[in-house]
Amino acid sequence: MDILFQILIVAAILGAIGIVLGVILSLANKYLIVIEDPRINDVEKLLPNYNCGACGTPGCHAFAEGIVNGEVKKLSRCKPGKPDKNYNPILEYLKDHPNNDGSIVDVKI
Ligand code: SF4
Repeated sequence: MDILFQILIVAAILGAIGIVLGVILSLANKYLIVIEDPRINDVEKLLPNYNCGACGTPGCHAFAEGIVNGEVKKLSRCKPGKPDKNYNPILEYLKDHPNNDGSIVDVKI
């Protein structure tokens, strides 16, 4: 077999594999996407954002996620947080942005 023909076959096989994997990735992106509660990012912005882990989570995003999901019950777990700068603004934000059922996230300072 001619070497050029072999190169063309290999290129065609690799191209076909690339197309199949591209289609699979685009379908996965379309159907497996997880839409995160936008309040998580908003609450994260109100935290000190030191990502120090003193709250017992891997970082501020995980702590914000715990707050919004109702798993975190005390904002003071965030040790660098300040009442006026962090805790109270978070409580006010959550009061203005209730859960889908209308209930307010149960968290205290
Ligand atoms: S203790 Fe506060 S600043 Fe540190 S990671 Fe947790 S939420 Fe972020």
